[in-house]
Amino acid sequence: MTASRQQLIRLLADGEFHSGEALGDVLGVSRMAVSKQIKVLESIGLDVFKVTGKGYKLSSPLQLLDAEKIAAGSSVRVESHQVLGSTNQHLLDKAALLQKGHSCFAEYQTAGRGRRGKKWVSPYGSHLYTSTYWNLDAGIHAASGLSLVIGIAVARTLTDLGIANTQLKWPNDVYVEGKKIAGVLVEIIATAGGECHLVIGLGLNVNMPLQAGLEIDQAWTDISQQLQHTLDRNELATCYLTHLIKVLTDFEQFGFGHFVDEWNSCDAFKDSPVVLTLGNKQKQGIAKGIDQTGALLLEINGIVSPQVGGEMSLRRAEI
Ligand code: ATP
Repeated sequence: MTASRQQLIRLLADGEFHSGEALGDVLGVSRMAVSKQIKVLESIGLDVFKVTGKGYKLSSPLQLLDAEKIAAGSSVRVESHQVLGSTNQHLLDKAALLQKGHSCFAEYQTAGRGRRGKKWVSPYGSHLYTSTYWNLDAGIHAASGLSLVIGIAVARTLTDLGIANTQLKWPNDVYVEGKKIAGVLVEIIATAGGECHLVIGLGLNVNMPLQAGLEIDQAWTDISQQLQHTLDRNELATCYLTHLIKVLTDFEQFGFGHFVDEWNSCDAFKDSPVVLTLGNKQKQGIAKGIDQTGALLLEINGIVSPQVGGEMSLRRAEI
């Protein structure tokens, strides 16, 4: 991200109209050059309106992230970037050098990702894209159920904001009113020495621009649709990190069993007909929550059994 493009974003961040001429004067470039830069902003997910005689305006004001504010509120190390490929990849690349809790944020991800190579739509400055480093001395087996626990940290964050009915979809998604508001992606590096490096990624929708919303191929929502008041993204980031560190600490101290009841109370599919997909195999049954290890409990022909192995995907069954 060039300095001049960052400056243009800061000028437009107030959500007011700015004429091409005035923007060009501040940036020291022609109106034509401004118009080219505006096209780049649109390509990274910002909705920019142009009105003849008035100039350019963002669809809503932008509040940019401030690493110092987030770090001060959450007492972990925080780095904030304009653009990253993926916040998870950024921390995975240097995992062995990091301390527990080290977190990074990006305003924009060029290759934000979900599970199994799926894309996470990450328009500039609109949501939270963040990753946190953690490690488990007890090794990879101790990580079982971790993405479920992160969902609980997100649910607690949304509850603090006043969003009451957050639901969790096994194993890694957060829903409100049946629509996806956040995704969790935990990636693990297990070392030969038995140590386990974890990178915990979160994409949390705050204020979805029009164009970016059209790119998502399933029902979604964002915090601004759920709340009547505007939200400070830095406070949101601090709130999430505070809950995250608390659940991670409790997870290590008390184990996954500590969270089972809370997770089951937020289960999006509890007692619903579902389809579980693993590779090219599918099972149909009734979702019965999770067990003490975090495995999905599925009832098929009256028998409830835990589902284990591989990357499974759960969907509500069409009736
Ligand atoms: P599962 O893998 O459990 O079947 P999933 O299909 O939702 O669930 P994930 O890897 O959890 O897959 O998330 C990626 C998917 O989320 C994308 O394929 C897209 O459908 C959706 N998605 C992408 N970006 C966003 C976003 N910003 N907000 C909501 N949903 C999104």
